[in-house]
Amino acid sequence: MKNITLLGATGSIGLQTLEVIKEHPNQFRLYGIAFGKNIDKATEIIKSYRPEIIVVQDEKVRKELKIHTDQITILVGKEGLDEVSADPKTDVVVNAVMGSVGLGATLTAIRHNKQIAIANKETLVTAGHLVMEAARKYKVDLLPVDSEHSAIFQALNGESRKNVNKIILTASGGSFRNKTREQLRNVTVTDALNHPNWSMGAKITIDSATMMNKGLEVIEAHWLFDIPYDNIEVIQHKESIIHSMVEYADKSVIAQLGTPDMRVPIQYALTFPNRLPLPPSKSLDLVEISTLHFSKMDMDRFPCLAFAYHAGSKGGSLPTVLNAANEAAVDLFLREKITFLEIEDVIENAMATHSFVHQPDLETINAIDQEVRNKTYEKY
Ligand code: NDP
Ligand code: MG
Repeated sequence: MKNITLLGATGSIGLQTLEVIKEHPNQFRLYGIAFGKNIDKATEIIKSYRPEIIVVQDEKVRKELKIHTDQITILVGKEGLDEVSADPKTDVVVNAVMGSVGLGATLTAIRHNKQIAIANKETLVTAGHLVMEAARKYKVDLLPVDSEHSAIFQALNGESRKNVNKIILTASGGSFRNKTREQLRNVTVTDALNHPNWSMGAKITIDSATMMNKGLEVIEAHWLFDIPYDNIEVIQHKESIIHSMVEYADKSVIAQLGTPDMRVPIQYALTFPNRLPLPPSKSLDLVEISTLHFSKMDMDRFPCLAFAYHAGSKGGSLPTVLNAANEAAVDLFLREKITFLEIEDVIENAMATHSFVHQPDLETINAIDQEVRNKTYEKY
């Protein structure tokens, strides 16, 4: 029996993780949860799963949360995320919070030798060098939840890294894959939130539409699998059936396939190196699907992907700037303060005006993250 601490329990990945836990009551128990503001959803989760520790975003949420038992410990804020991630009774930390707020908890979980299922890609984008250095030092595996990275992780299983030619990430193309740049001028938040293949949180759905999600995934893949940026390719594959692939020295390509269902990579990160049945997930029926499509990514059409390759390759503090500017820009777009295409302007401008730092430590990363957000919010 593994005790699971689920950071971001009320979100899209969080709720699907709960479905996986429910399927396997003899393997997994929900020990701790963290959430932001969604008190109604959190209350439902607490009633059905009875976790022992709850972390809330701030004091305001703590006051509003009505818990009628003293068997539950309530913690607050980033310190709370750290404490529950370090808790001796936590076996596995599933990090599914949105944004770079997840960084501290990832580092804490590594330092306490927890099994870590990582969905929170912003952690690896903003501080990949620090996270991977800590993971090596404490000999902790970061088990990817992101479907592309889970696919690559599975395709690399039992192979030698030195024989890898390249990894090929697939991209669905997001909500606006059939639109020209001209047609993007007047798109609305509702249009952008309408993803054709996946039902996900708001931020990652917008990231998919701008293609920043794939850019963040390129950086995430670079760190998780230690692959140079020149050997990471992105192709468009609108059906989201091939979740990603690895090409080896002999030109053999190993891919992982399945219906688009995040519960599959979530469960694999919890059961690795074992596999368990997942009855609610549908079998892949290739005969029914019959045709799969692939096309080249157009960097002019999707400049955010080019920004991410640039930030990742240059390294240093630039990925932190890319990520923080993107988080602020997406938030502004969701609140209808800027247009869809202005998201790109915000990120490009933040990167162009930033004073580069070579090997930023954690304090510098946190300071840059905050400064970029502040500047962006001051302007709009
Ligand atoms: P959601 O927006 O649906 O959920 C985010 C979660 O984080 C919510 O539970 C939210 O709480 C919580 N949260 C936000 N801020 C804080 C905070 N300060 N303290 C504690 N909890 C907080 O996002 P997703 O589930 O879609 O995505 C989560 C992560 O997983 C992201 O990094 C995303 O890129 C990644 N990911 C998601 C995929 C998907 O299919 N959704 C696929 C691959 C990766 P509340 O709602 O209560 O405010
Ligand atoms: Mg993904």
